Amino acid sequence: MNEELIIGIDVGATKTRLGIGDANGRMYVKRVYRTADIAHRFADFIVDEIKRNFSNYLDKVVGVGVASIGPLDLKRGAILSPPNAPLKNVEVVAKLREGLGEEVFLVNDAVAAAWAEKVYGMGRSFRNLVYITLSTGIGAGVIVDDHLLLGKDGNAHEVGHIVVDYTGMMRCGCGGRGHWEAYCSGINIPAFVKRLLEDKYRDQLEGSSLCHEYRRSSLTAEALFRHAKQGDVLAAKIVEEEIGRLNAAGIASVVNCYDPEVVFLGGAIALNNEELVLRPIAKYVDAYVTNRMPKVTITDLGEDASLKGAMAIVAKPPASLREYFGHP
Ligand SMILES: [Zn+2]
Repeated sequence: MNEELIIGIDVGATKTRLGIGDANGRMYVKRVYRTADIAHRFADFIVDEIKRNFSNYLDKVVGVGVASIGPLDLKRGAILSPPNAPLKNVEVVAKLREGLGEEVFLVNDAVAAAWAEKVYGMGRSFRNLVYITLSTGIGAGVIVDDHLLLGKDGNAHEVGHIVVDYTGMMRCGCGGRGHWEAYCSGINIPAFVKRLLEDKYRDQLEGSSLCHEYRRSSLTAEALFRHAKQGDVLAAKIVEEEIGRLNAAGIASVVNCYDPEVVFLGGAIALNNEELVLRPIAKYVDAYVTNRMPKVTITDLGEDASLKGAMAIVAKPPASLREYFGHP
């Protein structure tokens, strides 16, 4: 094995994935951890795990890519304090560089996934694409005219905080009101559905399998979609007419802003509920969109989209990231 190897790290709100592979996106070894279990000594833990699991490969490693939930301070190479995860101000770039003696790149996880689509995935043939993750939170990565957008602080793509409800019924983890993520992300769906059940659909709760979940305080995004799949009328209505319609509004806003040729959807909610996520978007998006509607499809990179993206930014660094850090 003479080729150069890359280490990728995907820091998610729920799971952290660590992998090693080649520049073509082929993964040799992968490890998955619960972020909450390792958050208290995050960078040190990752360094130790890399040394423990990848020792046979380390002399061939040419770089380490980190794809992380935001907010990030790209210039400082730090993960700040994500509203949906227990990480607090982790100087991940400096610590990994110090611990491993390798070059370390950091980008937002959904941005990395967009770059993975461009380098390794179905996005190869497109100059304009958006990747949106419907997961614990909602994030995106945007490529316009082959250029990966970053912005002044590296947050040009925070589409989860697009306002989809001007009444601001639900409050987002960021503190803002009416944000897409406050209604349709995994962590916030339970509170939104609870509010709907107590208010708008109170008279339909009896007889719905959501009633049981509601009374036991066990409503989760996963339970909502499961009951909808099993034919519960109220669960299906909420998935289609509430969450589905809000997803359509969010995606229409993304299309109106960035004019992509294709929108890739990833993240656990989209990957586990393809039909229930795609159908309402197709049904309602016309009401909100003004630009020519692109193809909306599920990512072909699955749950490893951000991990592959972490590797892709090392294998083929985007020009915008090089410019951002002043590299030639
Ligand atoms: Zn927000």
